[in-house]
Amino acid sequence: MNATGFSPKSATTGDVDWEKIRADFPILKLKIDGKPLVYFDNAASSQMPQQIIDRLVRYQTAEHANINRAVHYLSEIATMEFHRARCKLQQFVNAEEDREIIFTSGTTDAINLVMHGYGRKFIKAGDEIILTTLEHHSNIVPWQMLASEKGAKIRVVPINDKGELEIDEYEKLFNERTKFVGLIHVSNALGTINPIKRMIDFAHRYSVPVLIDGAQAAPHLTIDVQAQDGDFYVFSAHKLCGPTGVGMLYGKATLLEAMQPFKGGGDMIASVTFEKTIYNTIPHKFEAGTPPIAAAIGFGAAIDYLTAIGIERIAAYENTLLDYATACLNEIPGVKIIGTAAEKTAVISFTIDGIHPHDIGTILNQDGIAVRTGHHCAQPVMQRFNIPATSRASFAFYNKKSEVDTLVAGIKTVQKVFL
Ligand code: PMP
Repeated sequence: MNATGFSPKSATTGDVDWEKIRADFPILKLKIDGKPLVYFDNAASSQMPQQIIDRLVRYQTAEHANINRAVHYLSEIATMEFHRARCKLQQFVNAEEDREIIFTSGTTDAINLVMHGYGRKFIKAGDEIILTTLEHHSNIVPWQMLASEKGAKIRVVPINDKGELEIDEYEKLFNERTKFVGLIHVSNALGTINPIKRMIDFAHRYSVPVLIDGAQAAPHLTIDVQAQDGDFYVFSAHKLCGPTGVGMLYGKATLLEAMQPFKGGGDMIASVTFEKTIYNTIPHKFEAGTPPIAAAIGFGAAIDYLTAIGIERIAAYENTLLDYATACLNEIPGVKIIGTAAEKTAVISFTIDGIHPHDIGTILNQDGIAVRTGHHCAQPVMQRFNIPATSRASFAFYNKKSEVDTLVAGIKTVQKVFL
């Protein structure tokens, strides 16, 4: 359940024609070694529908120029469309103002921006930063870098055997030295949906700002940054059917204004002399150089595409796939699902007794099935379960039940080959 009261389990799929939606995705017609592609690596990167590909082509063929720099026709169009994309993101996350949306190159870049802009300015020796066992490396390593530079300390929230955060332990970590919380909204390795509203409210009792890594939440849950009240919210376009190379940082305006810039260069300045540079206002202060204009416009088109279907309907449909796949995998002897939280998105991490995940991925690939194998950039999660890696099937709204059947048959083939 998120701050808007929405849980994928309580929504309905409505009257969406999912087959018709699937037909929007040209890549899904591919054959791999003669076998139809079954794409279950959506948590790493989702696929792009024709509508967004067309939008990118239209930009490149009729609208491209650099932005903010000229009065000619193309520059004005590109500047306007770039701004419209920002406004679409503002609406998508329900931010109060468009200047609270910063374009970044992705989730990782957005977290690094906050680390440099906020952390390096405000975190001092002896301060404590709370992270969780579920974090992606992107929300661990920047804070470790900061901690070692400043002499600050990282405190970690443990998880239980289902892969859920131990909230009581989280609350016990707070003290007067706590200065920042980095919190993953949905675990990429396990699918666990974290109770971010409760955790944000608790941190705010200590006046501690919270950054939410929403990379895996934005494609599946309704985001309302005002209702959730987190201080920063970040995600990437490429997990939302958009292009690679672009993502966003939402930050409360007062915090963004107080922060120092991350990168210096063009557009992030109001004036420059060799004696002194005066920085531009937000969001420009954090968007040095030519931004990913085409990708940002594609990001905006992706938001239009997803909101036209409805994130709640998407989540409800994906949840039917999750329930079906969970039941099927639970019936196969030797298969163990890692991550069984009560609130999950459509991600299934699993192991097969006696078979290394990389071997599983290799054999499934021969059947055209794309799953991810490895530590999923979440090594502390693997360490917690005492395993080197898992295989992960992550579903999107363009997947279908028959593909889950193909996965189940593929897993049985893997077992025949190796056992
Ligand atoms: N956080 C989470 C939870 C993720 O799943 C990912 C992508 N796997 C990232 C951060 C990093 O995203 P990006 O590579 O787009 O910066």
